[in-house]
Formats: sequence, C-alpha cells, structure tokens
Amino acid sequence: MDNYRMDTKCVQAGYTPGNGEPRQIPIIQSTTFKYATSEDMGKLFDLEASGYFYTRLQNPTNDYVAAKIAAMEGGTAAMLTSSGQAANFMALFNICECGAHIVASASIYGGTFNLLAVTMAKMGIEVTFVSPDCTDEELEGAFKENTRAVFGESIANPALTVFDIERFAKAAHAHGVPLVVDNTFPTPVNCRPIEWGADIVTHSTTKYMDGHGAAVGGVIVDSGNFDWLSHADKFPGLCTPDESYHGIIYAEKFGKEGAFITKCTSQLMRDLGCIQSPQNAFLLNLGLESLHVRMARHVENGLAVAEFLEKHPKVKQVNYPGLASDPYYERLQKYMPNGGCGVVSFEIEGGRKGAEAFMKKLKLAAIETHVADARTCCLNPATSTHRQMTEEQLLEAGIPAGLVRISCGLEDKRDLIADLEQALA
Ligand SMILES: *Cc1c(COP(=O)(O)O)cnc(C)c1O
Repeated sequence: MDNYRMDTKCVQAGYTPGNGEPRQIPIIQSTTFKYATSEDMGKLFDLEASGYFYTRLQNPTNDYVAAKIAAMEGGTAAMLTSSGQAANFMALFNICECGAHIVASASIYGGTFNLLAVTMAKMGIEVTFVSPDCTDEELEGAFKENTRAVFGESIANPALTVFDIERFAKAAHAHGVPLVVDNTFPTPVNCRPIEWGADIVTHSTTKYMDGHGAAVGGVIVDSGNFDWLSHADKFPGLCTPDESYHGIIYAEKFGKEGAFITKCTSQLMRDLGCIQSPQNAFLLNLGLESLHVRMARHVENGLAVAEFLEKHPKVKQVNYPGLASDPYYERLQKYMPNGGCGVVSFEIEGGRKGAEAFMKKLKLAAIETHVADARTCCLNPATSTHRQMTEEQLLEAGIPAGLVRISCGLEDKRDLIADLEQALA
C-alpha cells in the first residue's frame, strides 16, 4: 500500500481479502486460537513464529486496523491500545524505566500531563516540562544524563499550540533519544510527524480517527527509523536479553523496523493488558475509511467559525492556528499546509458568567467533555474541567474564566455560525 496516496490508504490499507473472503474486515470475536500440537504453540510463545494464540497479545481484527494506521503515518509497525492514555503510557514506558527522565512540551493534554507529572513520577520516571516555544538554551538545558525520550503534541489539546517537530526531533537525536509525538488532533491526514523526524507517533483514536464518538481507543506507531543498538546503553530493554522470552534481544532479532512494537506487544501488553476490543477496532476502522473526507470539512468549519468569532464584538480573543493572526499560523503552514483540525478556542466577554450564559443558549453545539467528533460540542473549562480553581488560579494556568473550547463537527458551517450568532446576541 506504500505507493498509494493518503485517501486510498484511509479506505483500503491494512486488509486485503483473498478470494471469497469478506470485503469488510472480519471481527474476530475470540479470546483464543486453536493449534494442532503444543509444539506449534510453543514456537509462538518463544517468538520463533508469528501467529495468534490469545487476544490479549494479538488479534487479527486489531492487526488489520493497526496496519492501516501504520501505513497512513508512514511507519513500519503499530499496536492498538484501549485508550489514548494507554498509548502514551506504553509508548514511553517501553523505553523509560525507573530512573529515566523525559523532556516534554508543557503544552499537552491534561491527562497526559498528569500521567507524566504524577503517575509516572511514582514509578521513578522524572519529567522536565519545557515551553513548546522555549529558547535553544532552555531546550538544551532540559536534557540530562538519564533522558530517554522527548514528547510533544503536534497540535496541543486544548491550547492549540503547534509543535515544532523538526526542531525537537533534532534536539532529541543530538542526545541519542527518540522523539514521541501525539498526533491526535491533526491525524495523519493533515500531519505526518515521521516525515519531520519523529520516531514514535501516538494517538487517542477516540477523537477524529473514530470520529463518531463511538469507541475509546489508542494506537502507537513506530517509524522504524530509530537505531536502538547504536544507543544500546540507554535502552537496555530493547538491547539486552529479555529473560521472559528465553533471552531474546529485541533490537537484534526484530531490527529497527520491528523491535519497538514487538517489545511493546509481547512484553507490555502481555503484562499490562490494556488491549482494544476487536469490536472497537472494527468501529475505529469505519471511522478511518472516511477520515480524509471528514478532516477537510472539520478544518473548513473550524476556520469559518474562527473567522466569524474574530470579528465579533463580544469575543475578546480567538485561538485557531489556521487564522493568519494566530501566533502559530506560520508553523501550521509548514507542518500542516491543508490545515490542522476543527477545534477552536475563544475568550468571551463577561468571564465565567458570560460563558455560562452563552453556552446555555447554544442549540447545535452540545456541552460535552469531548472533542473531535461529527457533532459540534463545546466546553467552558472554568465551569467544568477546571471548576475547582479560583479566578486567580485560572489566570495563572493561562485559562481565562471566559474561555470556551468549541469542536466544530461536520454540520453546515452556516448553521453553526447562525447558532453562535444567536447565542452571542
Ligand atoms: C483525548 C486525548 C488523549 C487521551 O485519550 P483517551 O482516548 O481519552 O484516553 C491523549 N492525547 C490527546 C491529544 C487527546 O486529545
């Protein structure tokens, strides 16, 4: 499928039925797989042969969908996970052990911030957060002897900052570590981090990839580019024998292209078990089949809404990297010339009360803790996710009380704008 364009990969990559086989990917709703001899099965347990024996490790439906996403991102291998949280945790934990350190962009999803700053800290993995717009000196100063990965989001949720992937990839590589990029918001349709030097790409497939608000899920994609063996001292998990598989060395046995995902599957998924159900993988694939068509509309609606809001007297400020006035406009043109996504945030006059009154009047945009699906939805952090904070604390966190995040769906943009107009009035 590598020689086909993105739109074709969205529809057909990952699964090629043979004669008389189902056209749509089959849902293999089976926990286990049958073998004629224990010897056959033993080869699978020793990673000497590839095949299926238990769905916690691998399932054909999941593998079809993972292969499609790997093709879309331009990677060599991929693994589905139960959620985006599981994807980011496993992608980092696969290379970071107790005593390791991560350099991360400070402009990331709140759930990932907690994962790094609180939960992984308890596991003895330390993180240094840097502004995505930090100086070269600040970035250089963030690296330590024990740094094992650099992390950022191509478009940050909810700040909508655009990550300078090429710059962070160069810095990571200069220190002999990989760059992990969460590419949830633009999806591979609008941004392919591997082309700019990212080594590992993650997603919350819950968002645009599924796109219908139907199934929580995640995915990890390996570029196959990072040479683990030439930094073997930093990555003992990949470059020294795994005693739980009779001493195999992943980086030697599976090479640059396969080592990362094979270890992630056969070790982390085996032990942690956060798999995506085959049923959800099937739903995810339905979303992927139209992703290229939907993303263009999300971007069109996002831009139209951002342009409308920018001119409205009751709106103080709009954040949308597709607007020429946005500080991230230039960077967006470099990495995502077709636009980023359909999420826009803006500050309304009247603070918390103003936002509350405005949202109550909306008819099409529902109030939800969600983004990036077919139906337009919105959220005021001050009265929902950040409700406990005082006005002062909100300002410190860079979240004005009147900030509203709106995720533009696939409706007609004229109806969305009319809805915003009447609610603002
Ligand atoms: C939602 C989200 C996550 C977490 O994904 P879940 O599927 O909700 O676990 C991670 N990263 C980004 C950028 C997100 O938007």
